[in-house]
Amino acid sequence: MHRTLPAAREPCSVRQSRCSKWAPFRAHANAVAPHVAPRGPVPTARRVTVAVAQPAAAPVAPTTAAASTSAAAQPHPTSGALPQPAEHAPALPTWTPPANRPGLYDQEGRLVLKALTLPELEAWCAAQGEAAPANRALQIWRWMYADPPAGSWVRSLEETMGRQNGFAAKFVEKVSPNVSLEGGLKLSQVVRAGDGTRKLVFTLVGGEAAGGSVETVLIPVVRQQGLRDRLTICVSSQVGCAMNCQFCYTGRMGLLGNLTTAQIVEQVVEARRFLAQEGDRTPLTNLVFMGMGEPLHNTEAVLAAADIVSHYLGLHISHNKITISTVGLVPEMRAVLARTRVQLALSLHATTDEVRDWIVPVNRRYDLATLTTALEEMFPKEEQEGQQQQQQAATGSLASADEAAAVAVSHETAAASAAAGSSGCSTQGPEPTDSGERWLPPVEQLGSEAPSCSSSSSASSSDGSESEKGSSKEGRSLLVEYTMLHGINDTLEDAHRLADMLRRVNCKVNLIVFNPHKGTRFQPSTDEDISAFRSALIQRGMVCTIRDSRGDDEMAACGQLGNVGLSFRPSPILEAPERFKEFLLSPTPAAPAKQAAAPAAV
Ligand code: SF4
Repeated sequence: MHRTLPAAREPCSVRQSRCSKWAPFRAHANAVAPHVAPRGPVPTARRVTVAVAQPAAAPVAPTTAAASTSAAAQPHPTSGALPQPAEHAPALPTWTPPANRPGLYDQEGRLVLKALTLPELEAWCAAQGEAAPANRALQIWRWMYADPPAGSWVRSLEETMGRQNGFAAKFVEKVSPNVSLEGGLKLSQVVRAGDGTRKLVFTLVGGEAAGGSVETVLIPVVRQQGLRDRLTICVSSQVGCAMNCQFCYTGRMGLLGNLTTAQIVEQVVEARRFLAQEGDRTPLTNLVFMGMGEPLHNTEAVLAAADIVSHYLGLHISHNKITISTVGLVPEMRAVLARTRVQLALSLHATTDEVRDWIVPVNRRYDLATLTTALEEMFPKEEQEGQQQQQQAATGSLASADEAAAVAVSHETAAASAAAGSSGCSTQGPEPTDSGERWLPPVEQLGSEAPSCSSSSSASSSDGSESEKGSSKEGRSLLVEYTMLHGINDTLEDAHRLADMLRRVNCKVNLIVFNPHKGTRFQPSTDEDISAFRSALIQRGMVCTIRDSRGDDEMAACGQLGNVGLSFRPSPILEAPERFKEFLLSPTPAAPAKQAAAPAAV
């Protein structure tokens, strides 16, 4: 005999769609459970007929379906080939791990889920046989990255069991032996500076530099009245750095290892955990890759991490608020522009090859001519006929550079409550006007037409979507970082060379006050020199800001991160060109031995 059974219910596509976007934790088990019969009569169109085995003594003529099944089991009358079964269990999709992703597996061979982007996580869930992989991936994602109550930055699948919308024991049992939700670092110390800057020191528990430590800086940005204060997080991408910039403490460490994608992401997760524990509800809105290391020396890990932290259903830091700072690795800069919408900053710091070869040794690979040509291609600025003259005429209402500086100072006073963030690498704070750095008003605020350099920042709408002001008609915009070193790169001749160099580059310039550290021979430029330098740039029609030091009393400021004591082979101090030696401090007692080392290849 035969009996009719209800077909397995299909997931409700409308409901699933709604849940995957807005309510990932709504229960879907009933939508995919074949053993649960729907209420009421089953529509004819949704019935399937199956054969039930009967005793041989009471044969019953097979139905059409049963007959066809029986016939299908026979070899083909002419070819003799056995046919394939009509129905068989669908094979699970194959999961291909993302290529070139550092730290995809931990020391125990487990897959590190924090190394995956959301689409990659969904593909992995499908390969595990999950009935609704998009929902499952989103559930994991939200538990790892979303703010409470949707998530709680969990470190393991087990943490959620028994909690609302937590994981079922069956799922945990199935996958947990093979996966890890750990980020590969542990918070070991918090250092608090007088201005509210906090430095988080992490110990690495895996990856290339296991046992080492990295530092992350939380920089409070106090904004003008009417605007909500916010935080910028400065993350590290390497332990130490191979670039050996001469004014940077991190550079003295040499490179001890790259961070994995998960270790970069975990710095942000840990920062959110830390802020929640502190009861600090200041929104963490901006992220800069300006901590320890050269981000584009670890490009794949950094780009994947940027993708993960920018997802609006997780850590939700907009692409427009993420800045990657580089010393000028040209091919990698092109790759960043091609593959992501995050912003780029260039640590320039010099206007002649003589100086840059010395203080930013990577210049020996990409000299200023090469770099400038590449910048003009990547960040083109339309040169308008007579623009220079118009801008100079506009600023001509200011009798001199000193007068321009005076206007700037008065503006600083008005915005005195604003404070800029700074730490880590040589650069920080991609949005000077937003971060409250000292700045000169653009020319249009002095009663003239605006310079063509425009901010790379853009608004982020309330629903998380982004409108990229800097990447539509105007093209991408670059932030140029320039650390002011007394007697080395802070003359008016330097300012004019800089303006010439960047005249066809869509950019703005951020002047950085040098933060001394133990063993350095450089000195910060005077306030007068910085003002004069800035005024010269303004008069040439450039947007120019000044970044104040933040957290420098606790070695949390620009160029002060790291611990040279951890390094087994500190990078060498390079020989200064003869004409600059008079501006350098005498070496400290501990320094001479280090100076004897050979120049580093970068
Ligand atoms: S300034 Fe940045 S790139 Fe240069 S040594 Fe320091 S961390 Fe490395």
